Amino acid sequence: MQKISLAIHGGAGTIIKNKMNPSLEKKYLKGLKDAVNEGYKLLKSGSSSTDAVQSAVENLENNPLFNAGKGAVFSANGKHEMDAAIMEGKSLNAGGVCGVSSVKNPISLARLVMDKSEHVLLSGKGAEDFASLMNCKTENEKYFYDEFRHDQWQRIKDTDKFQLDHSPKKTDKFGTVGAVALDSFGNLAAATSTGGMTNKKFGRVGDSPIIGAGNYANNKTCAISCTGSGEFFLRGVVAYDVSCLMEMRGLSLEAACKEVIQKRIKLIGGDGGLIAVDNKGNIAMPFNTEGMYRASIDFTGKEIIEIY
Ligand code: ASP
Repeated sequence: MQKISLAIHGGAGTIIKNKMNPSLEKKYLKGLKDAVNEGYKLLKSGSSSTDAVQSAVENLENNPLFNAGKGAVFSANGKHEMDAAIMEGKSLNAGGVCGVSSVKNPISLARLVMDKSEHVLLSGKGAEDFASLMNCKTENEKYFYDEFRHDQWQRIKDTDKFQLDHSPKKTDKFGTVGAVALDSFGNLAAATSTGGMTNKKFGRVGDSPIIGAGNYANNKTCAISCTGSGEFFLRGVVAYDVSCLMEMRGLSLEAACKEVIQKRIKLIGGDGGLIAVDNKGNIAMPFNTEGMYRASIDFTGKEIIEIY
């Protein structure tokens, strides 16, 4: 059988180490374990990498601990404006949504954009209209309400600040979720979903739903899902940059990831990390922040679940 591999992340904006407590840490580790197992189970039973990354991300979106879906942070208008994208490495097909407020699992809407529309990226009201046409499951504001998130927002809501989760000053966590996989047919896929940044305004969209910036897959090289200060990841075209370094300069997955996360993105002031799997099933999960919620199961069956 062809090799299978899967990696997931729950964001680089982790709770800083000295604020983490054992019981909370246990919850995070369990959340990561559940999601990685869910995706891997599908890969093992012969499902496509697209189905595996979608289902791992849906699992994380349903977990209020992570900033996506149910746990999405509050925007300045007191709502949730979620972004997501999915991409297949074989066809380079992709779908994304940004600024959706009521869709339970934004990643499933991104999948529908990829499979059932002529487009790649739908935004705001139009994306919600498409969701209702597709009978995509929605939820009301109560479902997305979380006391911890609400408090985070209350602390900064009347200021011009938006919470940059990756700054060293930060004591709270935010993040994004994502998954990348290689399936038994040799196909790669990547999926990413986020609530973005607390108190974001003006329809701000980060890197997560943008193909090539926060999410990318190409069977020639690798599949990538990013997390970090979105404005910098957009400017660094980070996900595509990793793929490009492999394709054009012949770098290994590990070397390409290191170049981008430890050098290029840092040079322009960006902080964060990414998860990546290449077309041979190798996995890399680099970050330049204090931690990144992450988990993987590679083709040897080796499981990693880590935060710092
Ligand atoms: N990259 C996400 C954004 O900028 C946030 C994150 O990964 O923490 O929307």
